Amino acid sequence: MRLVIAAATDVGQVRSLNEDSFAVADHVVAVADGMGGHLGGEVASAEAVESFVQAATDHPNVDSLLLAVQTANSAVHLRASERHDLTGMGTTLCALAATGPDRCSVVNVGDSRVYLHTNGRLTQISEDHSFVEGLVREGRLTRAQAEVHPQRNVVTRALGIEPYVDVDGWDVVVMNGDRFLLCSDGLTNEVSEPKIADILSGSDSPEAAANELVRRANENGGRDNVTCVVVEVSDVEPADPSVAELSVAARLTRHSTAQTVTPTLTGLDPVVVTAPGSTAGRTAGSSAGDAAGASSASRRRPRRFSWRGALFAVAVAAVFAVAVGGVGWYSRYTYSVGVQGDEIVIFQGPKDGVLWIDPIVLRQNLTLDDVTDESIRESLRSGVDQADLAAAQDYVETLRDRITTTTTTTTTTTTTTTTTLPIVTIPPVVPVVPSPGF
Ligand code: MN
Repeated sequence: MRLVIAAATDVGQVRSLNEDSFAVADHVVAVADGMGGHLGGEVASAEAVESFVQAATDHPNVDSLLLAVQTANSAVHLRASERHDLTGMGTTLCALAATGPDRCSVVNVGDSRVYLHTNGRLTQISEDHSFVEGLVREGRLTRAQAEVHPQRNVVTRALGIEPYVDVDGWDVVVMNGDRFLLCSDGLTNEVSEPKIADILSGSDSPEAAANELVRRANENGGRDNVTCVVVEVSDVEPADPSVAELSVAARLTRHSTAQTVTPTLTGLDPVVVTAPGSTAGRTAGSSAGDAAGASSASRRRPRRFSWRGALFAVAVAAVFAVAVGGVGWYSRYTYSVGVQGDEIVIFQGPKDGVLWIDPIVLRQNLTLDDVTDESIRESLRSGVDQADLAAAQDYVETLRDRITTTTTTTTTTTTTTTTTLPIVTIPPVVPVVPSPGF
């Protein structure tokens, strides 16, 4: 099989920095769309594509690609923990590799997309891990509403946010003439899918197609960075003519490290990656505004568990622990709810830091002034330890619900059950560091 690959990227008409990155190696291509303040987005996306391409082996298969995404996730996560100004950075990542004589594999985290253009038809292979995609799956938004929804930039999965990330993958049986498109949302928010299909059909070469797609995104507003990588497949052996008869769905085999097949609203992770004051900015599961309001009821999800996920998690955790030592581990795997300035935040890591490592601060869009009970304010000032991130989030949600409850009781005569806020002080969890011999 032969792949002809062409890539084009542009900062767009509005932004001053291009936070998208792409990487092209022999049989592997990757696109990433970074997010985070200052240089965070740029650093995250560049780190992700570079470490992914490096980790993808000489003869990749879908499993090694899924693992390469975990490696890239660890690299971004570690990088974010090293420098204060990179705290909270994250990135999407989608990638494609040739994995057999008549097969390519696709992996994805986030809302950058992989499309297959075959027989003149365009089909999205990847599934978006986005807030609006969850609502579409639940039937609460139509596809058309999702395309113009103000929260359409909110992603529910991203690399770099947590030590482990769920990754989706697909094997795709290919045939001569297929074109794949990997792109950031700077394309799909500006150019409709029928137009994208027209451009892929009408371009003589992958290079012409990639350039035209970027040009068209800019012509339509260019409100975001835009990146397009076009991959053309030829010399497929064995060239099985019957593949042409199959639907795209029949040519796909899905692989995922996530146990649930489709991301839903309950998968929304309310971690705020700070992108202050910008609705156009990208946040990973922003808890701002409607997003959190609409979902707070359904958010308390049961923890998903899969052996495969657990194995990955342990492997990643082992690498992480060995790399930065027990101190690094301890500094990241303790959680507490506390106060920074006037704001109520979740600290990942002891709030005063451990040695040279500062805690990661997860903002919650909640201030100390919102809390009326002085004893709770006092506990928050000294910090309330939590067993894990989910517990910390539940605690914040309880605070938030309580505020809502208070408001409701003062404005209406409805009797509401006042929930007692559980102030449980859990001693810091002593980390069990897996032995390197695992
Ligand atoms: Mn983007």
